[in-house]
Amino acid sequence: MSERTIASHGYDILLLERRQFLKVLYDGLQNKSRVQLGRNIQDIVECPSHVQVIMADETVEKGDMVIGCDGVHSMVRNLLQNQANKSKPGSITATEKTSIKTSWKCLIGVAGSTPEMGDRDMTDANDLAEQVADHPLSDSMVFGELWKRRSRGALIPLEQGVLENWHHGRMVLAGDAVHKVTPNIALGGNSAMESIAVLCNHINRMVNDQSGAKPSLATLNHTISAYRDERAERMKKVMEFSNLITKIQAWDTPLYRFVAEWIMPYAPDR
Ligand SMILES: Cc1cc2nc3c(=O)[nH]c(=O)nc-3n(C[C@H](O)[C@H](O)[C@H](O)COP(=O)(O)OP(=O)(O)OC[C@H]3O[C@@H](n4cnc5c(N)ncnc54)[C@H](O)[C@@H]3O)c2cc1C
Repeated sequence: MSERTIASHGYDILLLERRQFLKVLYDGLQNKSRVQLGRNIQDIVECPSHVQVIMADETVEKGDMVIGCDGVHSMVRNLLQNQANKSKPGSITATEKTSIKTSWKCLIGVAGSTPEMGDRDMTDANDLAEQVADHPLSDSMVFGELWKRRSRGALIPLEQGVLENWHHGRMVLAGDAVHKVTPNIALGGNSAMESIAVLCNHINRMVNDQSGAKPSLATLNHTISAYRDERAERMKKVMEFSNLITKIQAWDTPLYRFVAEWIMPYAPDR
């Protein structure tokens, strides 16, 4: 596996916590002033030539477009859907608004050197951990032993869903805000980065084609639509495959358990 990863990507697989990964990215930024922490978006106002983002501290940011990469509970998504329905009633259906659904719960934990557990209510997590304490993780270890050694842990919902409508006006969505997958094949964050890269490539081409002139709203919409068309089908496939692996790993039915125990261990890495 390691050799194949190096051959195809040039790097080996590296497991690290999200905050460590974010620190590596942040440290590599040349202009850190663009990253502003603790600034909450409260509202977005579309104007004919630009868009205004109203922050919780009542300051206003002005720009040509808003890329909402604000996670599974996305505020930008809510605002986008409301504005789309205001300008064209019924364009975002109730079904679409609720299409990112929770089908699974997941016990997560980190067993390392950090001693604190935070203020999270751990009752549900501990109850569930107790139920699966005897589940073998290897020939010599059961889940309960690993759970006791955790430094942090929680029971979290695992949502999944890929929206049909990814943009409206000068607003566009990326990442978990628009395509949420289960974490079992570790493609959620990777897909978020892939979407942003595809979107930036389309915007870059548009800006070059404009030769310095500001794009019209129609040109911007054309560019954003091309991004959506390039990504949506791929993300539906990723979601379906991730959901299948989740079912297998969760032993969702006796058949999936059979696949998990008797087929997956003998399946090739690729
Ligand atoms: C247990 C688990 C393990 C995972 N493991 C992997 C893995 O190994 N590999 C992988 O690729 N993916 C993994 N994922 C998935 C990955 O974490 C997500 O897909 C990824 O973080 C999505 O990135 P995002 O930028 O879209 O959203 P997020 O990472 O959720 O970031 C959203 C950001 O928006 C900010 N925000 C939210 N609302 C507002 C607002 N109103 N105003 C301003 N800012 C706001 C938040 O503070 C946050 O910083 C895992 C997920 C889980 C649950």
